[in-house]
Amino acid sequence: MKLKSAVIRVEKMQVFTQKRNPITGSTEWDVQHEDYDFHQEIARSAFADMLHDTERNKKYYRALQLAIEKMHAAGKKANVLDIGTGTGLLSIMAAKCGADSIIACEAFKPMAECCVKILQRNGVADKITVIPKRSTELTVGQDGDMKYKANILVTEVFDTELIGEGALSTFSHAHKYLLEEDCIVVPDSAVIYAQVVESPTLQKWNKLNDLADEDLEVVLRTPRKMRDCPGSAAVHDIQLSQLPRYAFREISDQIPVFSYDWSGRTPLEMNRVAKHNFVATNTGKAQVVFMWWELNMDPEGKICLSCAPWWCHPDANISSERPQDTIPWRDHWMQAVYYLPKEITVKKNSKVTLVSCQDEYSLWFYLEDSENKHEKYNRPACECGVHMTLSRTHVSYLNDGRRSKKYLAQIREDLVKDAVVLDLNGSSFLGMAAAKMGAKDVYILEPANHHVEVLKDYIRENNIDNVKIVPDVDDEILKQVTNVVCDPNFSSAILPWENLKMAYLLHQYRGKLQENVTIMPQTCEFWGMPVEFQDLHKIRIPLGICEGIDMAVFDDLVEQSSRTISDAEIEAQPLWEYPCKCRGQPRKLLEVNMLQLKPKFAADGTFLIDESQGDGEASINGFAVWAVWRGSGKPVSAGPSEWPSVGQRVVWDEHTRQAVKILSKTHIVNNTNKWSYQLASDLEKGQFDLTLDLVLTEDVES
Ligand code: SAH
Ligand code: ZN
Repeated sequence: MKLKSAVIRVEKMQVFTQKRNPITGSTEWDVQHEDYDFHQEIARSAFADMLHDTERNKKYYRALQLAIEKMHAAGKKANVLDIGTGTGLLSIMAAKCGADSIIACEAFKPMAECCVKILQRNGVADKITVIPKRSTELTVGQDGDMKYKANILVTEVFDTELIGEGALSTFSHAHKYLLEEDCIVVPDSAVIYAQVVESPTLQKWNKLNDLADEDLEVVLRTPRKMRDCPGSAAVHDIQLSQLPRYAFREISDQIPVFSYDWSGRTPLEMNRVAKHNFVATNTGKAQVVFMWWELNMDPEGKICLSCAPWWCHPDANISSERPQDTIPWRDHWMQAVYYLPKEITVKKNSKVTLVSCQDEYSLWFYLEDSENKHEKYNRPACECGVHMTLSRTHVSYLNDGRRSKKYLAQIREDLVKDAVVLDLNGSSFLGMAAAKMGAKDVYILEPANHHVEVLKDYIRENNIDNVKIVPDVDDEILKQVTNVVCDPNFSSAILPWENLKMAYLLHQYRGKLQENVTIMPQTCEFWGMPVEFQDLHKIRIPLGICEGIDMAVFDDLVEQSSRTISDAEIEAQPLWEYPCKCRGQPRKLLEVNMLQLKPKFAADGTFLIDESQGDGEASINGFAVWAVWRGSGKPVSAGPSEWPSVGQRVVWDEHTRQAVKILSKTHIVNNTNKWSYQLASDLEKGQFDLTLDLVLTEDVES
């Protein structure tokens, strides 16, 4: 995605937006539709996925029905307040359950406008008053937004961290100003669970490991301050149920650490610390805390919604081959991972204390035992720079030993005597590794100051004295270079082809490098295939009817927004978190040779869905595209980690994201159907456009 740093309005329908081109690295002015931000928000929001969450919808509906019945049974009117109405879903449910008055407020104005249209379409506009305001700005009284206080509150203002969207202040304010004392709140309460685990796999997303070569010799030591850094407090949300079971070991059972009484009977605290003693269930390094929550929808505790991963989920079928497929799927609420500021080794059956901390919007955790105590429980903040400058995915990529060993082996093979190395990617360690492995001089191209600081720490820690970090490369340097190395994963790249920055730079240097310069990697290939997502398509497909409510107005809005923002069709997703099946042989879409670069290239093709699928039919709801980089050694795939077979689940690389196109509906196809692609790129302009689609014929059913 492109970074926007300034918006200047020039005329009514268009704005100039300034953004950084990830391939050229330069800042460009671009003309955008004036509501670009709004369209971006709508097209990329989790709204659709949330509304496809049938469990959530049904449990809200049932709890609302019980609340309204209860008010009526007590001889009272049911006056409902819906905070953050969005599409109006919960208000329409309240109307259907016979509420006597309904006020729906929504802070995001364009959404409130959409809501009004949905109410009209569903014939309930006269029963619901929409107020385009934040709940904390609502007024009560004769001339106010609400004539009187409500006695039922329904609201869904929760995120993966439960309180990250400001639920604590929203509820506190509502109880103080907007609700009667004996009100019913849907949901009634919530519980946050934590589980302490050892997980070297997850720790890869947090701490940089020493860089080792294929003989497991350490080439670069991680600077002390990076090893000791408490890390970032920002939550890492993840589809925990997709994490392989061997990737973690429990050190505690699930511990209910905080409960929240939304009903108003006990006040909500903005700052809390809670200590829970437990007996370690295993010996291991306590590194990470898993977190999820549960909502109790009704005061009697009959309706409960759990976001637990499968091993703690009340509805999971543990004896199933894939228990993660037996619990409801959702992407708008995942599970959260918190990295402990300091890892401690605990013995099975020893006594340990989990310290859980909460402020108005976030959580963090500490662990203590008899030898490790903390004086203060401050919210962890990065002290080393890495956690502020590199994304978690990029840190995990740099820690991927299988990949770095291939590159290091090739550098060792390629290095000539008195080698002068140019490293094109300062968000990688290859240049410094080359210096350690015997290069005479190394130049690392890195214009970004924050990356330069990280590199300097490594250089100091590893006593490297032959590396120069340069913001750009002049002819004087270029003519000395014997080896160009480039880890093809720039921290600025999101979509796979944004790493063609390497090709862009080499194209700039054409004619200036020596004839016999060695370049690693030498080629970049893009591969694509049709897939059937198990669940991921739900974040984009139209809603149609949702719990009997017509959502066509919302579907139209999303479609319009997607068309307005040009880069909406293809998005980056970490596919290892989103199961899919291969529905056609992977095909090579393009090969870029770094030794013979052309500034412009184009390719297209049409392929049969598959020859080996037999007469059977298959469902296709998307495409996946990834890069494979080759040098003289083994290829490095930023896609499947094993070659996909048609009809089988794909195993994806965990350290990169892939490009994904989600189709607006699922198509049933057979082996006579085809898919096609078109691709065009202009390196000098930093452009890369790719379209993929099924070739629709009459026999492609939908
Ligand atoms: N109630 C809808 C939408 C839930 S998403 C449904 O269940 O489908 C949460 C919505 O609440 C978002 O649209 C957000 O803009 C809005 N919101 C969050 N806090 C709010 C507040 N305090 N006042 C008004 N709107 C709020
Ligand atoms: Zn740090």
